[in-house]
Amino acid sequence: MQLIARRNEETEGTTQVQVGNAVFGGPQVIVIAGPCAIESYEQLLATAQEVKRLGATVLRGGAYKPRTSPYSFRGKGETGLEILAAIKKETGLPVVTEVMDVRDIERVAAVADMIQIGSRNMQNFTLLSEAGRSRHPVFLKRGLAATLEEWIYAAEYILAEGNDQVVLCERGIRTFETYTRNTVDITAIPAMKELSHLPIVLDPSHGTGRWSLVAPVALAGVAAGADGLMIEVHPQPSEAMSDGSQSLNFKHFAELMQALNPVARAVGRKVMA
Ligand code: PEP
Ligand code: MN
Repeated sequence: MQLIARRNEETEGTTQVQVGNAVFGGPQVIVIAGPCAIESYEQLLATAQEVKRLGATVLRGGAYKPRTSPYSFRGKGETGLEILAAIKKETGLPVVTEVMDVRDIERVAAVADMIQIGSRNMQNFTLLSEAGRSRHPVFLKRGLAATLEEWIYAAEYILAEGNDQVVLCERGIRTFETYTRNTVDITAIPAMKELSHLPIVLDPSHGTGRWSLVAPVALAGVAAGADGLMIEVHPQPSEAMSDGSQSLNFKHFAELMQALNPVARAVGRKVMA
């Protein structure tokens, strides 16, 4: 059967997905940045202002957090969404945030310019269909151990509802390696460009799990043709309530943004600023 998510002889280029002023799948490399989790108004405002100043054009921040242990910080929920709405208004940055439950889709879509479906929910088929029906741009992360084929079928659930505003995100996969949190599949970027017409973003933060590896892997992703990056940034990573070890501080984020431009130019792209 012919899948809508697949590239065929007639499809040309990449489907463009507009989120605020950012266009995924266009000539520019879009940088999404922000904390793993929304912790407070002050934390999100400080991060949003700084990443915006440095050239990020979409803000991330989780209100509903999927955590391995139910005893870990699971996000601020509705309060987090309220903070996100306030910071979006204050900075003018469009926002992406995760939805984990179909019951929250309306609430999340009321604030988010793009709704994120996380790795652990890549095959939550009810959630995928509902996200498709919402007509909102969807940020679809690759499952922890999903093949490219399974990932395309997951996207198909959204497209089958008439919503082609889907951005794929490679965030590393489970392998035998334990030094890194996941193994970033750089190959997935050009491979998905061959297999699908959907734009693809790389998340080297969850991909590596180590802040020191984020910048080099981010550069590799852009060199391989990624349409964007998702980077976790925190004002004080050592104090972060989740994923501090893979979060860049402002200085390291600034250094990454500096390094990005020449690499983007080398592959005929530019970083939106
Ligand atoms: C996230 O981006 O906040 C997240 C939880 O990522 P993933 O679903 O890739 O683990
Ligand atoms: Mn995280």
